[in-house]
Amino acid sequence: MLTILVTGGAGYIGSHACKALAAAGHLPVTYDSLVTGWQQAVKFGPFEQGDLSDAARLDAVFARWQPDAVMHFAALSNVGEATDAPGLYWRNNVGGSINLLDAMVRAGCRQIVFSSTCATYGDRDGVVLDEQTGFAPLNAYGASKMAVEAMLADYSRAHDIAHVSFRYFNVAGADADGEIGEAHDPETHLIPLALQAATGRRGALTLFGTDYPTPDGTCIRDYVHVEDLVAAHILGLDHLARGRGETAFNLGTGQGFSVRDVIGAVARVTGMDVPVIEGQRRAGDAVALVSGSSLAQEVLGWRAERSTLDRMIGSAFAWHQKGALYKE
Ligand code: UDP
Repeated sequence: MLTILVTGGAGYIGSHACKALAAAGHLPVTYDSLVTGWQQAVKFGPFEQGDLSDAARLDAVFARWQPDAVMHFAALSNVGEATDAPGLYWRNNVGGSINLLDAMVRAGCRQIVFSSTCATYGDRDGVVLDEQTGFAPLNAYGASKMAVEAMLADYSRAHDIAHVSFRYFNVAGADADGEIGEAHDPETHLIPLALQAATGRRGALTLFGTDYPTPDGTCIRDYVHVEDLVAAHILGLDHLARGRGETAFNLGTGQGFSVRDVIGAVARVTGMDVPVIEGQRRAGDAVALVSGSSLAQEVLGWRAERSTLDRMIGSAFAWHQKGALYKE
């Protein structure tokens, strides 16, 4: 059994990672400020409330739990907000990661799995991305994650920190048991918004741009089931334990869906209409972000087994219908 410090363990992806860690026999210790996370989502191990800006609190938590490794999810992750308030993203995501890595060095904890993003790549004209694609982020969210990847390489050289970064595409779906799911306040992501619009919890969904150079004019994204995504993180721990090797993996399915495709699938899976308004483009959005995962398949043995639109939307809908949004 390993003890894993999970920053952002009260968030959407972090809470699913805690469940997967506990199922694999490990102890997930959540470190979360609850600025965007939910205490009700911390169900699979101990909870330590704290902010990454608080070095003394980090030191106390490392001393108490002596984690074998860190999974670092805690970050702000809203592209629109990052575009309007870049300083917030640099301070929180980059500054927070410096504090975390310094605390790891002080505590002698030398393994980290980092939650990175395809937003590091920027817009590549519909090219299917891979790990060799150069970075060209379009917004401060992608830039902040790019900076942390560079920081990991520097800390690795100076302090012998083994690290692996997973570059996420669009994460969707919920725990098959319905214990946890996606909940943001405010919600900004397409699938939960479409479910809320279909079930009358909010008004029509606004399509952010219908004049993109894609077959139906809307943006294309690569959607990955949150359970597949966190499974890669468990494999990442084994990868670190085996010693140095590849340090970054794209976690895509190789298949892109347009915003209209997703809305159509939500209508089909739920049997409900999704009211839609055609709106303007959202600043900072890439036209298309799609990646294969051949490196993760070859090196980690990872497969996106659950990442069909039906399964992602079906599990998200089940969670939504339970009324299990944490706030209520
Ligand atoms: N989107 C949209 N209306 C919304 C929310 C999202 O048209 O109310 C589009 C967005 O422009 C993008 C896709 O849906 O092309 C996925 O957006 P999301 O915010 O879920 O994830 P992102 O791609 O920004 O990580």
